Order: sequence, then C-alpha cells, then structure tokens
Amino acid sequence: MNIDIKQTTQSAYEVFDETNFQFGSTMTDHVFLADYKEGAWQNARIVPFGDVYIGLSSTVLHYGQSVFEGMKAYKRASGDIVLLRPEENAKRIQVSAARLAIPELPKDIFLEGLFALLKLDKKWVPSMENGSLYVRPFIFGADEMLGVKPSDTYTFAIIMAPAGEYYPKPLSVKVETNFTRACPGGTGFSKAAGNYAASYLPTKQAQAEGFDQLIWTDAIQHTYIEESGTMNLFFIHKNGNLITPQPNDTILKGITRDTIMQLAKQKGLEVEERAVSVDEVVGGIASGDITEVFGAGTAVNISYIHFISYKGKVYELSKENPVGNELKVLLEGLRSGEVEDVEGWVKVLEKDIQLGNSS
Ligand SMILES: *Cc1c(COP(=O)(O)O)cnc(C)c1O
Repeated sequence: MNIDIKQTTQSAYEVFDETNFQFGSTMTDHVFLADYKEGAWQNARIVPFGDVYIGLSSTVLHYGQSVFEGMKAYKRASGDIVLLRPEENAKRIQVSAARLAIPELPKDIFLEGLFALLKLDKKWVPSMENGSLYVRPFIFGADEMLGVKPSDTYTFAIIMAPAGEYYPKPLSVKVETNFTRACPGGTGFSKAAGNYAASYLPTKQAQAEGFDQLIWTDAIQHTYIEESGTMNLFFIHKNGNLITPQPNDTILKGITRDTIMQLAKQKGLEVEERAVSVDEVVGGIASGDITEVFGAGTAVNISYIHFISYKGKVYELSKENPVGNELKVLLEGLRSGEVEDVEGWVKVLEKDIQLGNSS
C-alpha cells in the first residue's frame, strides 16, 4: 500500500509536558486517513492533525454511523515500541463495521496505516513507567446527505494520544437494573459510537449516587451480568477458577479479556465462560465463594472492584486481589518483555512489522 505523507512543520511535541497533561486532549502531530468512495478504499495518507474536513450534514453527525477501536503502544526499556495483538483490533473493526452497514476495511490498510503513523510519531510514546500511547482508529459515514440511509462514502482515521501513568483505584460499582446498554439483536457486540452515547445518562446518574461505574445486566430481566463501562468482568471463585459472562451479541468481546483467559489457562486456572447471574455474584460475595472481582480492558488493563451495590445493598470484597495481581503481572510482563511471549502476541515496531508487506 502506498501512503502519501505530508509532515507537519510545527510539531506540538516541543511544548508537550510528559509529566503534566490530561489524557485525551493532547493528540500527536499526525493522523492517518483513507477514504472509501466509488466502492473502494483509497487515498491512504498521513497529514498533520487538524487538516481534516467534516461536513456538517455528514451521516455520522446525524445518524451515528461510526465504529472505533482502542489499543495502546508501549515503549520498552530497550526503546522498542510494542503493540499487543493489533491484528485482533483489525479484525474486530470489521465485525463492528458490518453491523453498522459500513463496508469492510481491509486489515492491511488498518495495520499498515497504524504502523506508518506510529513510526512517524514514535517520539510521542511516553517513556515513563506504565505510560503508553493510546491509539484510536475509527470509521465514519462521510456523505454530506441528510437522507436516512447508509453513507456511500466513509473516512477511516487513526489518531493517537499520549496516556500517562495509570494506577486504577479500586472501583465501587452499581448493578443497573433499569437502563439497558445493549439488547439482543442490537449493537452491543460492536464498538459502535452510539452505544457509548446511550450509556452516558445512566452512568452519570450512578456517579451522582457516588459510584464509579455501572454493571450492565441483560435487557430482558436484568438478572444476568454483562459488563461494566469499557471493561469485561471476571469473578474469581475461592477454588481459583475464573468466571466470566459468555459473550453474545450484547457483550463487547474484549481482546484484554481473551488475553487474560489464555494467560489464566496457561497458569493452570480454569475459566468458566457462561451466564452469570447477579444473585450468584452477590450471594457468592456474601458466602465467601467469590473472592475477587475485576474488570479488564485496554483503557484500564485490570481494575479491581471492591464494592458492588445491588438493589440498595452494598457487597464488599477483600482488598487483596492475589489472582488478579498475578494475571496483571503476566499481562504487564508481556508488554515489558519480562514474560516470554509464547503466543507471538507482541509486535515490535520496525522489527516484527515491516511496512509495505503486512498481510
Ligand atoms: C472496548 C471495550 C471493552 C474492552 O475491550 P478491549 O479489547 O479489551 O479493550 C469492553 N467493553 C466495551 C463496551 C468496550 O467498548
């Protein structure tokens, strides 16, 4: 794939303070773009951030025809820049896009665009421990056309934002039994922009009640657990097994979730993927059968949950998270290189990844 590159003449990096910034508002210097028109993806290019036009009548702004991905690039002590399982993100955006009637984006456009952009802006990958460069690929309907129909033209873009040291504090969450994030037949399995807009009000209400996040339950009876915020959930049984809701069309299938399940299995732990009722969880916490609860996702890695509120009653978990900690050490070790990458998940920029021939 040929990528036209127009470099910025004014890098924002010189005025960027790695020790003092807010995640998500500072973007790196460049963006990768490709257009879909006349039935094909074309015009792959990298331009300075900001040199992009979006029409006010575009499909995405009115009807939310948009899907996204999220991943993180890390800098190792050796200076190598690594990504974990980026091909999985390339596959998942295809699954997400299909549900929103967005044409399939070839994996090589996703991956080669990502690597070329990362190479150009690699100085932005923070070197502080636990720092990372958050990568946000997304596709949106670009037709300037108010008719309610799928767009004929699309833009694929990748933007990147430095993310600082992140120590997730243990969370207090509320089991939501009124609002619904996703319903059978809907878009819950897709990283569709509208899913997040629809979660804002319920989450805001929970936060006003003093909780950090919600645990979403099934849309029909609100008795089975689905996921929380942008995290998949794991429950640790006192016998050491991991229990996690079976993904279906209402649960976003996290790549971190899959990595954690595989790491747990490598350690000899059993993983039960099945329906998990709220009663089983709160009853298990009360009886001591469930000893740890944590969420897993790119944004948080592993985030412990210490309080779960259900129907006005609060269930408290131990502050010790031995199983979660062990898995977290393995996950972080894969990125730092301290844990052997038996599965070949780690991709090193400019080593494993040769521009122009990824397939
Ligand atoms: C992105 C996301 C996750 C986590 O997926 P990862 O691939 O692990 O980052 C979980 N739930 C929702 C709703 C998400 O959007």
